[in-house]
Formats: sequence, structure tokens, C-alpha cells
Amino acid sequence: MFSVITTSPEQTWHIGQMLGARLAAGDTVCLYGDLGAGKTSFSYGIALGLDVKEQYITSPTFTFVNEYEGRVPFYHIDLYRLHDPGELEGIGFGEYINSDGVTVIEWAERAEDELPAECFSVYLTSVDENSREIGFLVEGERYEKLLAELQADLKKDRIR
Ligand code: ADP
Ligand code: MG
Repeated sequence: MFSVITTSPEQTWHIGQMLGARLAAGDTVCLYGDLGAGKTSFSYGIALGLDVKEQYITSPTFTFVNEYEGRVPFYHIDLYRLHDPGELEGIGFGEYINSDGVTVIEWAERAEDELPAECFSVYLTSVDENSREIGFLVEGERYEKLLAELQADLKKDRIR
């Protein structure tokens, strides 16, 4: 796993934005981490990188999925309140995988076997009040290339 430390929410947005700028329709980003680890903050950054104009990117807590217009559609899923993977069918979860847009899933572990075989996985951990460790783990050629590009972006910005 490759990881970096951010020391402010803005820095977490910035990294999300760098990733978002490189994402394309059909990509899935899986986010892992406890409450307050920064999953929604990172998602907000991805939205910026996708040129989503709406200002208020909030967790779709009561609906599971929020859809935004951007350079490509942005589907923001939050499974915090999912009790059973069986509920996924009811929200049309499968239709957001390999879709016409970019899909970001908070609490991805709650989808268990319904996740795509390949995912751009991001693990967020609280280090202290303002520091978060952000780890990246990818599978498949497409996401390996994306991660290599993101690593180059991070290096350019001297983020480590
Ligand atoms: P989650 O979606 O994982 O529950 P949020 O992004 O909603 O997390 O909340 C993260 C909280 O932590 C916010 O209140 C944010 O201001 C705070 N925070 C402090 N430092 C950071 C950081 N380095 N990166 C992201 N969020 C941070
Ligand atoms: Mg959240």
C-alpha cells in the first residue's frame, strides 16, 4: 500500500481533486475508514476534480446515493446506514458499477461481494485532530496506471 499524510481538510480535498481530475466514466473508487476519517472530504475533492459545480457535496446519508453533474456524472454512494448487503439491490447498486460516470463508495466494505473485482481503494485513518493517513491500494491495469499518475502528481506537489 502506498500512503501519504495530510495535515488539513484542504490538503485532503486537494489529493481527492488530483485523483478526480484523472478519473473517467466507469471508474469506481472505494473509500474505507471510521467516522470522521475524511471519506466525505476526499469525495468532495474528487467532485472538484470532476468539475462538479454544485457547492454542497454532503454524504447521501438518507438516500444512499447522490448524483451530480460534472465532466462526467458523479455518483456518490454512502453505505453507512446499510444493514444488509441484500438492501443493495433496492438502490440499484449494480447499475453504478461500470456506469456512464464515476462512482465513489463510502463504507465500501458494507457492500461485500457486490463490489467490482477491480476498485481504486482508498483507506483513510485519523492520526490526530488534523492529520489523516491516506492509503491507496489498487488492482488491475487501469487503476495501477492511475495510481502511478497520482503518485507523480503528489511528488510534484511534494506531498508525502
Ligand atoms: P467521514 O466521511 O470519513 O466520516 P468527513 O470527511 O465527513 O469524514 O469528516 C472529516 C472531519 O475531520 C471533518 O470535520 C474535517 O474538518 C476533519 N479533518 C481534520 N483534519 C482533516 C484532514 N487532514 N483531512 C480530512 N478531514 C480532516
Ligand atoms: Mg462520510
